Amino acid sequence: MSDLTSPVHRALDADAMRPADIRGTTRILGVFGDPVEHSVSPQMHNAALARLGLPFVYVPFRVVPVALEQALRSLPALGIVGVNLTIPHKERALGLVDEATDEAREVGAINTVHCVGGRLIADNTDGRGFYTPLREAGFDAASQSVVVIGAGGAARSVVFRLAREGAGAIWLANRAIERAEALARSVTDAGYGDRLVRPLALHDATALGSAMAGSDLLVQTTRAGMYPNSGEIPAIPAEALHAGMLVYDLIYNPAETRLMALARSRGCAVMGGAKMLVYQGAAAFERWTGIWPPTEVMEAAVNSSLPAA
Ligand code: NAP
Repeated sequence: MSDLTSPVHRALDADAMRPADIRGTTRILGVFGDPVEHSVSPQMHNAALARLGLPFVYVPFRVVPVALEQALRSLPALGIVGVNLTIPHKERALGLVDEATDEAREVGAINTVHCVGGRLIADNTDGRGFYTPLREAGFDAASQSVVVIGAGGAARSVVFRLAREGAGAIWLANRAIERAEALARSVTDAGYGDRLVRPLALHDATALGSAMAGSDLLVQTTRAGMYPNSGEIPAIPAEALHAGMLVYDLIYNPAETRLMALARSRGCAVMGGAKMLVYQGAAAFERWTGIWPPTEVMEAAVNSSLPAA
């Protein structure tokens, strides 16, 4: 018999759903990932569902890559209302759904699936999750010059959202410049013009420094500085961080990265990634339930669920 007083069981108990809350009418939401144990989406969504008293539960599903198609196709049969997709499924899942929004097709990845009448309707809410906190902070990307560091999956959502919002120039700096060039080509191919995204090598401090000097927003989308490597900082020319610039680091653990601390010390405004996580989740929540959730409840759940940095 297992030891119910072990640290693992005590930790599980602290997070446990109260089984009495689940009944025959309970509807199911969830997240597919591999691994999925690190996800804070269950805490974030369940906190909002509980606050609103909605008859849903949000559960993690560890879905290995070979089982992704079968898992997605099972959603209608199981009556599951919708799921989020996280690492490593976001790109491949796009090819396995019945419909996807224009933004999801542009980005080439999905993070949300909604089952409607037996069909799988997909969206990518990361771009809205990224941009809503910026708007709340009073930043309008229209005609602005923006520096984006990194060219991975998160950068794709950011760059396409900035393009949709009418940004004037997007300087895209990555260690592997080919990846930045490939993303720039996708933006051109999507019809946003061939001069909008300007690829740079991250190590080209002169070019990156002058792009930063002419921009009031820097978005950090790389893994440098993410827990457990919180001591890392992306190699950018620190002297080009200037007062009047907003430095937005998409990392949400730790809540304040080394880059944010450096930028703050140079007079920049700073923003971390927790709000993006909350707003991408809120957009999915609204799609599934028809109700905009209490985002402050979701943010509090995220902050209290993250492991200490
Ligand atoms: P990804 O697709 O694996 O891309 C990783 C990016 O990080 C690449 O551009 C890579 O550059 C760069 N990189 C990795 N280590 C680096 C280092 N030491 N120095 C400089 N660049 C480095 O990952 P992703 O899915 O885009 O995620 C990236 C980050 O965004 C993660 O920290 C993640 O937590 C965060 N994120 C946050 C949210 C949110 O809701 N707040 C959502 C999505 C992602 P190369 O191409 O040169 O290897």
